[in-house]
Amino acid sequence: MINHLITQKNWQTQLSEAIISVDELLSILKLESLRAQVYLPTHFELRVPRAFVSKMTIGDSDDPLLKQVLPDQQEQIAVTGYVSDPLAENEHNPTKGLLHKYQSRVLLTITGACAIHCRYCFRQHFDYSANMPTASAQADIVNYITANPEINEVILSGGDPLNVTNRRLFAWFDILEAIPQLTTIRLHTRLPVVIPARLEDSLLDRLAQSRCHVVMVIHCNHANEIDTLTAEYLQRARVAGITLLNQAVLLKGINDSVAAQVALSQRLFAAGVLPYYLHVLDKVSGAAHFDSDEQRATELYWQLLAELPGYLIPKLVRELPNRPFKVPIDIYKAI
Ligand SMILES: *Cc1c(COP(=O)(O)O)cnc(C)c1O
Ligand code: SF4
Repeated sequence: MINHLITQKNWQTQLSEAIISVDELLSILKLESLRAQVYLPTHFELRVPRAFVSKMTIGDSDDPLLKQVLPDQQEQIAVTGYVSDPLAENEHNPTKGLLHKYQSRVLLTITGACAIHCRYCFRQHFDYSANMPTASAQADIVNYITANPEINEVILSGGDPLNVTNRRLFAWFDILEAIPQLTTIRLHTRLPVVIPARLEDSLLDRLAQSRCHVVMVIHCNHANEIDTLTAEYLQRARVAGITLLNQAVLLKGINDSVAAQVALSQRLFAAGVLPYYLHVLDKVSGAAHFDSDEQRATELYWQLLAELPGYLIPKLVRELPNRPFKVPIDIYKAI
C-alpha cells in the first residue's frame, strides 16, 4: 500500500516531500471538483505532509483533516475584529526569540517553520525572520532566564520545534539543562501527528536522558489524526517517560460537536495522551470562517462534562492579549 511506504520513510524525507500543490492534493483525494473554491495564497501557502493526507478520506470534501489545510476563498474576506497579531505577542518580546508573558515559564521560538500549514494558525502573519534567536541571542536568552529566577520552565515552540534537526534541538537541551533553576522543558509540537516518524528512537533516547521533566504538548484537533501508527509512536514517547498532553482548537464544522470531542479525548487517551487545552479560535485575519462562537463552545462543554470522565475534559480557554494566563471561558454565563 502506498500509504504504508510513505509513513515508513525517514522523517526528513517526509518533510521535504510534503505536498505543496493544490492540484496534486485534490487529485490524490479525487476531489478535483473542489478546485474552484480553493484560494492560492502568496504567503503561508498550502503545505501538508503525505502521512497526514493518508489519514484523510478519499472523495470526502468535508473531511475534517482536509478542511484544516486546504486554503479556502473565504480566507480573503476581511472580517472586523480579525487582525494579524491577535495576541499582541510583539509586546512581550524582551529578547529575540523569547516570549515572557506568563510568570514561571518562557516560550522560545526556535524556528519559524512548520511541517504543515494550518489555515486557522494565529502565527500565520508573524515575522519569524525578524525574530529568530541567532547565536548571540542564545546567550541573551540564557542571561534573561538567569536574571529572572521565577522562571522554572522553558517551552520550545515555533513554528514547530521538532522541525529542526536533532543536532540543533539537542544543542538547545544542552544549553537549557545547564541552567540550574529550570525543572521542566516543554515542547509544543504538531509533528508527532503530521509526521509520526519524527518520534524516532534517537530523539526519544535523548529526551529520556534529560535531567529535566520533559513535557510534550501535541496539537491534534480530530480523532482521525491519530491512526494506529501515530498511536504507536506516541506510546513509545510515553514509555520514554515523556508527559504527553494535547491542545486543540475548536474549529467550526471540524470538531465543534460533542461526538467529535468525545472521540478525540478517547482516542488521545488510548494513545497515552491527556487532553490539556481546548482553545477557542484566536481572531487572526483569514480565519473567521473557522470560528465556532463562545455560546456554542459553552453548550458543547456542558455536554462534554456529562459524557467524559474529568481527566478527559480539556480546559476550555481563550487567549487574551496582556493576560498572564490562558483565560477560562465562563461556562456559567450562558445558563
Ligand atoms: C501558552 C503559553 C504558555 C504556556 O501556558 P501554560 O498555561 O503553562 O500551558 C507560555 N507562554 C506563552 C507566551 C504562551 O502563549
Ligand atoms: S503547526 Fe501550529 S504553529 Fe504550525 S501552522 Fe499549525 S497551528 Fe500554526
